[in-house]
Amino acid sequence: MRIVVLTGGIGGAKFLVGAREYARRTGAELTAVVNVGDDVILHGLRISPDLDSVMYTLGGGADPERGWGRVGETWAVKNELAAYQAEPTWFGLGDRDVATHLVRTTMLNAGYPLSAVTEALCARWQPGLRLLPATDDRLETHVVVSDPGPGPGPGQGQGQGQGQGSGQGQEQGPDAGGERAIHFQEWWVRHRGALPTHRFVFVGAAQAKPAAGVLDALAAADVVLIAPSNPVVSIAPVLAVPGIREALAGNPAPVVGVSPIIGDAPVRGMADRCLAVLGEPCTAAGVAALYGARRAGGLLDGWLVDPVDEVTRVDGIEVRAVPLWMSDAAATAAMVGAAIELAGRPTGVAG
Ligand code: GDP
Ligand code: CA
Repeated sequence: MRIVVLTGGIGGAKFLVGAREYARRTGAELTAVVNVGDDVILHGLRISPDLDSVMYTLGGGADPERGWGRVGETWAVKNELAAYQAEPTWFGLGDRDVATHLVRTTMLNAGYPLSAVTEALCARWQPGLRLLPATDDRLETHVVVSDPGPGPGPGQGQGQGQGQGSGQGQEQGPDAGGERAIHFQEWWVRHRGALPTHRFVFVGAAQAKPAAGVLDALAAADVVLIAPSNPVVSIAPVLAVPGIREALAGNPAPVVGVSPIIGDAPVRGMADRCLAVLGEPCTAAGVAALYGARRAGGLLDGWLVDPVDEVTRVDGIEVRAVPLWMSDAAATAAMVGAAIELAGRPTGVAG
């Protein structure tokens, strides 16, 4: 059996640990298609947060407490950059992590596509699955906010006085309505999403092509799983790459999603903030409705919810309740098994 998982970073990585466990037990072949909308160039380094979260987690190098970055990390480079007042100072760039970004940036500058770079990095980390970026092209999630004005954002204390992260080259100027677009990383890491926010824009998506291997993996898939990742800023940017949504819609392989929302709240992270920006309810049923039923032109054939949510039906989507807490690999592998089982049920989707 061939399983393809669409995924973001931290939540997706936890899910993939269980999916890998399931694949090992059943002999299935596993491919992850990872969001690159969080990618950013800082201090001249190309950073791919979601790819790295997945790679470090599956490779045994992630910091389990912090949830992102490397275990045993040190911060000499970050402190030295701060001593130069080199903006942005709000991004946590760990010393061990920097080595990954140096290798990635060097290879990209030499002309290798991100998919080839990822494969090269994975030669060290041996994640036990095939890791593919959604696209090799530039695709960045930007966030349109009311102009926050100069100076540090909420919770930043007294900053460096550079304001706005100037010099990063990531921002667009204010428009007539007093709106500006900032990179997703600045919105989340610097401002914790606490700015009047209007919408998310996937810059470059319209021109992006699926990365080498993505369409082939989808075409060969027996089942496609949507990880319990943030639907708005992790899964939506993957689906925004022209060709990926079409491949899913036209495939015979069933598509089953796993809810990132348990008890009307994200387990961790900012999905509630992001859903609010879209005017969508932060519920398991709400996220399923956002993805839509494949038979009605949407994404999903099946949807897993946690029993606490008591969701019994979403129009056109088979719903099943199983415990969705990814407490360890075994519990998560059981979730994956339930998703595969749900995928095997007749869903009424025209093949
Ligand atoms: P990011 O890119 O690092 O933000 O990570 P993802 O987008 O892949 O995953 C973030 C989502 O994972 C959040 O919306 C969380 O609610 C969800 N999540 C984290 N832990 C769990 C868990 O144990 N169970 C479920 N169902 N969702 C989880
Ligand atoms: Ca992410």
